[in-house]
Amino acid sequence: MIIKKTPISVSKYLNSETKKLKKKIAFIPTMGALHDGHLSLVKKAKKKGYFTIVSIYVNPSQFAPNEDFSKYPRSLKSDLKKLRMISADLVFTPLHKHMFEYESPKYTFKTFGIEKKLCGKSRPYHFLGVSDIVLKFLSIIKPNVAYFGEKDYQQFFFIKTVVEQTQLKTKIVMAKTVRDINGLALSSRNNYLSKEQSRVAKNIYKSLKILKKIIKNGEDASKALNQQKNFLLNEGFTKIEYLEIRTQDLKKSILPHHRSRIFIAAKIENIRLIDNLLI
Ligand code: AMP
Repeated sequence: MIIKKTPISVSKYLNSETKKLKKKIAFIPTMGALHDGHLSLVKKAKKKGYFTIVSIYVNPSQFAPNEDFSKYPRSLKSDLKKLRMISADLVFTPLHKHMFEYESPKYTFKTFGIEKKLCGKSRPYHFLGVSDIVLKFLSIIKPNVAYFGEKDYQQFFFIKTVVEQTQLKTKIVMAKTVRDINGLALSSRNNYLSKEQSRVAKNIYKSLKILKKIIKNGEDASKALNQQKNFLLNEGFTKIEYLEIRTQDLKKSILPHHRSRIFIAAKIENIRLIDNLLI
């Protein structure tokens, strides 16, 4: 497994080596603290025979000042071990100054009001921070395909829409959410949960599944959403930021809700968890 730390060294390597390898390139951006959700994306790319590149970079510009940037879990050594075990081809671990100094082409795109929807409401700069860094990575690596997790569907859809508006040729692909045995979507932020909080957290998936069933049966969705909000608060969540049904392109969903998604962001104290489920 090759490890590169600067944009220039990655570009140089890819220019000289991947042409010889005659393989297409897949890219998986991550912030590290890798779990089976991240690894499933790498395995998916490897299975397709791609030269698979993983970035590990905790991007400061997608965190607001009051968020968990400084305490976000960092575990580079064990991340590299996990990636080696599943034969990732190249890991890119840039420093902030490398990414900050790297000047990518200026991409212009419309945000279709992402900053006003779902996570955008409480994190208005988040998605622009994400797209800024992802576009930089894509312009350095020029992958044929980049994988994003369904767990962060809003992020996947935003990046896909942004990339389609640029000259970049990368295909943005979504990979299924990996969950633990209780249904809790794997997330680096689950590391913050105590045992009791993990018990509370698993109710997110329970609620999503109940809602899916009720909505599929054609019952009153807004009543069901309120019931599930109350259920989660009773179980120990301290705040439900949103619990909403949206279409696949993140518009307000109207009846019937087939092929829409249920989206949730909920907090246990200051630990914020998100999830979503296709109806
Ligand atoms: P992060 O390190 O949280 O930025 O995540 C990096 C990538 O892994 C993103 O595309 C996430 O959507 C994806 N990811 C994170 N958790 C999961 C999961 N439980 N299942 C599938 N993909 C995931």
